[in-house]
Amino acid sequence: MKILLVDDNKKDLKTSASLVEEVGHTPIVCDNAHEALTFFDSEASTPYLIITDWEMPDMDGSELCQRLRNLPFTVSPYIILTSAEEFSDAEVCALENGADDFIEKPMSLRSLTARIRVAERILSTQLNLRNLALTDGLTGLLNRRAGMTAIQTQIARIERHENLHGCVIMCDIDYFKRINDNYGHTAGDIVLREVANRMSESLRPFDTICRYGGEEFLIFCEAGEKEITAILDRIMDVVSSEPVMLDNGDYLHVTLSMGCHVDEQSAPLTSKLKQADELLYQAKGNGRNQYVTDLGALSANG
Ligand code: GH3
Ligand code: MG
Ligand code: MG
Ligand code: MG
Repeated sequence: MKILLVDDNKKDLKTSASLVEEVGHTPIVCDNAHEALTFFDSEASTPYLIITDWEMPDMDGSELCQRLRNLPFTVSPYIILTSAEEFSDAEVCALENGADDFIEKPMSLRSLTARIRVAERILSTQLNLRNLALTDGLTGLLNRRAGMTAIQTQIARIERHENLHGCVIMCDIDYFKRINDNYGHTAGDIVLREVANRMSESLRPFDTICRYGGEEFLIFCEAGEKEITAILDRIMDVVSSEPVMLDNGDYLHVTLSMGCHVDEQSAPLTSKLKQADELLYQAKGNGRNQYVTDLGALSANG
């Protein structure tokens, strides 16, 4: 685990860094609280243990603690305050200031090891809970809520790039009910997992895919005009070109219909979804196993 150490005293910083290494973890050192805060600008999604000195000039450990508690971490960091000052209620003060634990300086290897173990336990529980809350149990994709949040974040960023379009792609497996009816619900589940896998593997790491509902998947990607049809063709192809093998050895040919709404407007996500849904409906009406996109309308208007 990476452990962030914050201390204005270079010698103490070096000592705690080597103790952390001795326990088998990776120290990252900061000699002031501001640097520690800047570090988390780009690291808000990794669970961290932070061990910070209390007495530091400018911003002390307890203020750092309070500021960290106000940052939007997906997994709140575990914070240990340390102090060499002899005052009787240091531990209680540390906890009152938002710390999870306190270690008196000089730190002993034994005390540090025990506390790191507690931190690991708490952080991994938090991480597991977060993953449970964000993922769909069957397919392992983001669930609808997490997917929508990820897409909102992506949209907020994309609107600053002129040459990229946001594509909202609503995908729906064709005649999925028949699969359940003819082969059973377990077979249906296998198909859902396999389709989800294939689709997510065909996407780029920065695209978002989530399980939107039963046999519906929602994809959001940023692409230049020319890339969009290539992405859509690839998704269609990856799902339908190879049959899905069931656990009894049977093969099933599965197809998708998709509605892809491409736009430059900063319309709310719900209205983008509605547009994608209407296009999907058209794809179904046109005979399924195809996509319909309003990319042409965009070119015509642009
Ligand atoms: P269309 O081509 O028009 O999309 O028809 P369809 O049969 O795919 O659509 P319909 O909405 O009629 O059926 C979707 C089915 O998906 C109904 C529901 O029981 C099934 N389903 C939803 N979630 C799950 C799941 O987690 N596992 C399984 N096996 N089936 C599911
Ligand atoms: Mg100090
Ligand atoms: Mg459906
Ligand atoms: Mg369907």
